[in-house]
Amino acid sequence: MDHTDEYIKEISEKIDSKKDYYAEISNKIWEFAEPRFQEYRSSELLQHVLKQAGFSIKADLAGEKTAFIAEYGSGKPVIAFLGEFDALPGLSQKADAAERIPANTGSCGHGCGHQLIGTGTLASVIVLKDFVKEHNLQGTIRYYGCPAEENAGGKAFL
Ligand SMILES: [Zn+2]
Repeated sequence: MDHTDEYIKEISEKIDSKKDYYAEISNKIWEFAEPRFQEYRSSELLQHVLKQAGFSIKADLAGEKTAFIAEYGSGKPVIAFLGEFDALPGLSQKADAAERIPANTGSCGHGCGHQLIGTGTLASVIVLKDFVKEHNLQGTIRYYGCPAEENAGGKAFL
């Protein structure tokens, strides 16, 4: 019997029930607005949440202080998500404004939504972990905490 619709519904409900929590994390990363290789607070926040959710963390990888890998479970399949969280110089922007309004002139800001990518993937691995645990499934769930996606090839080193 195919349970796909049932599983999608279950996972969607789990995500929806925590949407305020994840929005707050995304908003924090938006406010931190840290550029490449300086995403200390963003990386720390994501690591903290993953640790609380039961993931083991390896940090400071490949010569990148803000890189980390969070992992849960063991064996195959290995299901991995890549989270980005760096901002860009000169793109400081007030939240919830549909026009260009710098929050701090000359400062960094999120241009293509890495606060959302970092947090969306965070929510994905946590809900997947809960799902795997509750359904007594096997496998490894991994979150690649990838610094410096913008202009520095952070994921290539990682
Ligand atoms: Zn980008």
